[in-house]
Amino acid sequence: MIGLVYCDKAGRIYYDESREPLADGGIVREAHPDELIPAPAGTVPMVLPGRRPLLTDGVPDRRYALAVMLPAGYTRLLLPAYVRGKDAPALPLFGYTFACTIDDELYVAAMRTDESEDWQPRVFDEGELEAILERRIESDRLNRVLRQVALCSREYGCFTAQNVFLERGEAALPVSPKCNARCVGCISEQEPDAGLPSPQTRISFETSPEELSRVAMHHLERVPDGIVSFGQGCEGEPLLRSVAIAKAIEQIRASCSNGTVNLNTNGSMPSALKRCIDAGLQAVRISLNSFRPQVYAAYYRPAGYSLDDVFESIRTASQAGLRVSLNLLTHPGVTDDESELAAMHDLLQGVRVDMIQTRTLNIDPEWYFETVGRPIRPAGMRAAIEAIRANGVRVGNFTHTH
Ligand code: SF4
Repeated sequence: MIGLVYCDKAGRIYYDESREPLADGGIVREAHPDELIPAPAGTVPMVLPGRRPLLTDGVPDRRYALAVMLPAGYTRLLLPAYVRGKDAPALPLFGYTFACTIDDELYVAAMRTDESEDWQPRVFDEGELEAILERRIESDRLNRVLRQVALCSREYGCFTAQNVFLERGEAALPVSPKCNARCVGCISEQEPDAGLPSPQTRISFETSPEELSRVAMHHLERVPDGIVSFGQGCEGEPLLRSVAIAKAIEQIRASCSNGTVNLNTNGSMPSALKRCIDAGLQAVRISLNSFRPQVYAAYYRPAGYSLDDVFESIRTASQAGLRVSLNLLTHPGVTDDESELAAMHDLLQGVRVDMIQTRTLNIDPEWYFETVGRPIRPAGMRAAIEAIRANGVRVGNFTHTH
C-alpha cells in the first residue's frame, strides 16, 4: 500500500497510510511499484507552499503537498501531483520528485543511474574548507579563476568547484560571463521579472587563458586521471570564448599530457567547438532538454542558433573522435513522450554518442509544462532510460573517463 506523505503549515512531515497520493508523469496517475525505491541517503524533503496533494480517492485534501530533491546519481521518474492554490508562490529552481510512504518508510520515484566517489558530498569540519581554499588561493593570489571557484565551493557547495581544492575528479574552469541562450530555468541568471532568484551568481568577468591553464595544470599534475572542465553552472556559454579556451588548452597540453580536457556547452557554435577540438579538446558534454526543435526553442530561447547547430556540434565532436556525452535535462512527461523518444532515436542512429547523462531539470513543473506543453503519450521515465540504452548509448549522471 502506497501512503501519503504530507506537511503541516510549519513544514513538519507526517505519514498517512490510509490515503494514497497520485503522481504526475505528464499525466496525473497512480505511481507504479517499480517506479519507487526507499529514499536514498541525501534525499531532501521540501514542502510545496500553497499546494494540496491529489489523492486516488478524489477527496480534496487540506494538507500541504510534499516533494523531495534527489541526491546525485539518481534519475527522477515522477513528479508530485497537487492542486495549486490561487495565492501559491512560484516554486524555486529545484528538482521536485514524487515521494510517498510504504511500511512507514519514505519512498521516492527514482532509479539509480550512476555512482562515483568523486560526487559523494564531503562533510567538512568547522573552518576546514575555508582553510583549504585560503591555502590554495595564497599559492596563486592574482588568479581570478581560483577566486570564483572558491566562492562557488563555499556559497553553493558546487562539487566541481570544490574538486579544484580537494584535488580530485573533475575540476571547474569557469570562463564566460555571457550566454547566447535564455533558458527559462537558467541557474546562473534569471531575468528581473522572473519572480525568482537564480540559485547561483554568474561569473562577471572574462578569465584569461593563463589563469585557466594554471588552475588546470595544477590539477592534472596532482590527479593523474583528472578532468578539467570549461563550462560550469556559475557561468554563461563557454563557446563564446572559444579563442581563450583554445589558447588555454594549448598551454595545458604544452606542459602535461595526462588527464582529460573537457568542455560543457550548449553546443550552439559548431565552428567554435572545432577551434577547441583543434587545440586538443578531448571530451565534450552538450546540454539539451529535448531532441524536438519546438520543445528545445521554447525552453532555451536561443539567440542566433537552433537545435540543428547543436546536432551539428554533436556530429563534429563525434567525427573528431572526442568522448561525447549529452547532458539531457530530464522532466517526467517531456523526456519520455513518444514523439521525444522518436526524435532522440533519429539523432542517435546517425552519430556516435558515448553517454547520455540524465540530469533532473530543476524547475517548477507547472512552469515547465506551460513553457513546452504537456505530453500526448508519455511512455514513462523508465521506458525513456531503456530507450537510450536500446540506442546503444550508456546512461549515467557524471562525466567519466572510461
Ligand atoms: S545555456 Fe546555460 S548559461 Fe545559457 S541560459 Fe541556458 S542554462 Fe543559462
